[in-house]
Amino acid sequence: RPVERQEGKFIVVLDPGHGGIDGGATGQKGTQEKEVVLIFAKMLEEKLEATGAYDVQLTREDDTFLSLRDRLNFNRRLQSDLFISIHADSLRQKFVRGSTIYTLSKRASDQLSASLAESENSVDLIAGLALEEETEVVNDILVDLTTRETIRFSRKFSDILLDNLRNQINLIKNPQRSASFGVLKAPEVPSVLLELGYLSNVEDEKLLSSVAWKDKAAQVVSEAVINFFKYRTNK
Ligand code: ZN
Repeated sequence: RPVERQEGKFIVVLDPGHGGIDGGATGQKGTQEKEVVLIFAKMLEEKLEATGAYDVQLTREDDTFLSLRDRLNFNRRLQSDLFISIHADSLRQKFVRGSTIYTLSKRASDQLSASLAESENSVDLIAGLALEEETEVVNDILVDLTTRETIRFSRKFSDILLDNLRNQINLIKNPQRSASFGVLKAPEVPSVLLELGYLSNVEDEKLLSSVAWKDKAAQVVSEAVINFFKYRTNK
């Protein structure tokens, strides 16, 4: 499906994690990650579209399964200007809570991020798909200059997003983390993975299931997107 770039508009891809047979995390009260992140993505889409400056595309609009490759291809085909993967995962450490912004790195920033990336990278197994062999190839691209530039922009967006989230949304300790997330590996597209919170934490589950909280969080993230493109256009 070829997509016409709309004149003067930035393309923002929102990627609600999981879907279909892959439900993602489930909270103690039964809140499902795949539902929370889809609702949030649609809220964010609406706010961004309302500005008139963005062409917002969702990797999935409903409860369907997408492989990691589907998500990456979607992103690359559009040659989007920004990619935000949205999650609300579970951690073994149930006391850990708060929003977290992940960017791509070869080596994980910490153990928690490493195991999170490992579980996210293996979602294809749930649908019976083999893990991608091309992961190695993509790893090599990491040293490529384009990718370095892309990673620089990804980190810039992470900085801007953090500035916007701070004092508005509850954050994890050390909210900027990194690991080798497969979904962030489109070499040309600045990409972050946003964990809105963790469904393994009871307090976070309360927030994640609240419409008012999601709306506020979507507002804050939309402002960060606007600020990011202000930064990019002024350079
Ligand atoms: Zn997830």
